[in-house]
Amino acid sequence: MEYPGNLFVVAAPSGAGKSSLVKALLELDAKLDVSISHTTRAPRGQEQHGREYWFIDEPEFRAKIEHGDFFEWAEVHGNLYGTSRAAIEARLAHGDDVVLEIDFQGALQIKQIFPYAVLIFILPPSWDELRQRLQRRGDTEPEVIAKRMEAARHEVAQAPGFDFVVVNAVFETALFDLKSIVHAQRLKYAAQRRNRSAVFRALDLP
Ligand code: 5GP
Repeated sequence: MEYPGNLFVVAAPSGAGKSSLVKALLELDAKLDVSISHTTRAPRGQEQHGREYWFIDEPEFRAKIEHGDFFEWAEVHGNLYGTSRAAIEARLAHGDDVVLEIDFQGALQIKQIFPYAVLIFILPPSWDELRQRLQRRGDTEPEVIAKRMEAARHEVAQAPGFDFVVVNAVFETALFDLKSIVHAQRLKYAAQRRNRSAVFRALDLP
């Protein structure tokens, strides 16, 4: 089904800078809305129910799967994560643009059921830089770093299944790239026909 709104799905290995980039993109673009996922993992630090995630327990999560409440869901690092179908579809149908910050499994599931989704993969500039970023972030235990690096190799290998790739070497450049993807999507014929219908009508365009 084609909706008037655009759906952007952003995935990346941990440490590539996905959250900071999406946060900055949302601050710059008032027409872009983020979707709050459900998860079975416990809140970390200052995280709040309904702000970062809807924190629910596993039986509740499984019940939602049974009811078909999720647009996609996946197990990531031992916890379950899912995107609420109702929230996404209502907003896209209303013409809003939605961005999902999810893992690659969820992104690829979405492309299967919703080919109009725009899949964006954020890459680190190198393995060395990714390792350094993970260390700077405070994950200094060598086993933790090794585990994340192993996961990152598996995640990065999924990039060929995505529509766009952004290399996050310099934050501002990566943000510009991300903005350009969103902008280009909004300039597509079908989107322009929706948003500039008076111009299209005046020019006798179908
Ligand atoms: P964290 O627990 O660190 O917030 O997130 C772990 C991973 O799960 C990240 O890659 C994050 O993007 C992903 N994630 C968050 N929400 C969802 C979701 O609704 N579906 C899927 N498939 N992954 C998600």
